[in-house]
Amino acid sequence: MHNHIRVKTGDITKEKVCAIVNAANSSLMGGGGVDGAIHRAGGQAILEECKAVRDSRYPDGLPTGKAVATGAGAMDASYVIHTVGPVYGSCGSACESLLASCYTQSLNVALELGCKDIAFPAISTGIYGYPKEAAARIAYRSVKNFLDEGHEMTVYFVFHNDQDKTVFEESIRELQEL
Ligand code: ADP
Repeated sequence: MHNHIRVKTGDITKEKVCAIVNAANSSLMGGGGVDGAIHRAGGQAILEECKAVRDSRYPDGLPTGKAVATGAGAMDASYVIHTVGPVYGSCGSACESLLASCYTQSLNVALELGCKDIAFPAISTGIYGYPKEAAARIAYRSVKNFLDEGHEMTVYFVFHNDQDKTVFEESIRELQEL
């Protein structure tokens, strides 16, 4: 039943999948955390594409909860899907649906690109401060709902360390039993 979801520890920039997701900020001009790692590993080409996206589609920045694709530059993936997670505490009760939207929109972009696999980092759980347990349940539920619609996609949750991976696995355990 869950055979299209894989959980692992690693550096998402090294993933050999069709699309890796970037926990970007709305400027799309790079930043810290996984965003910085992706821009460093992918090279200047990603930033150039992000600038073009800003100019053509999002002059005021990519809104929270939305997703947009660029190439992946020097990385093994074919695409980077940039999505902007909510800053925890800045959106009240809307934070949950905004975080869910990051996952759903990224999956739909991957689908449009013809991808059959995608890797997610733990969006919003770093600099943006989202509690890891709550974020895990939102991430898992969003992905599971998408897969239950019958889409053919293998989804990787990639954690930067084993501790974060364990927190994720323990947080979703009850949901897996449903
Ligand atoms: P946000 O601003 O959305 O909170 P961060 O990049 O600060 O994004 O953190 C999101 C998550 O990405 C954190 O759990 C962090 O440990 C993780 N992370 C950072 N670098 C990498 C990487 N190279 N591969 C996978 N995950 C990473």
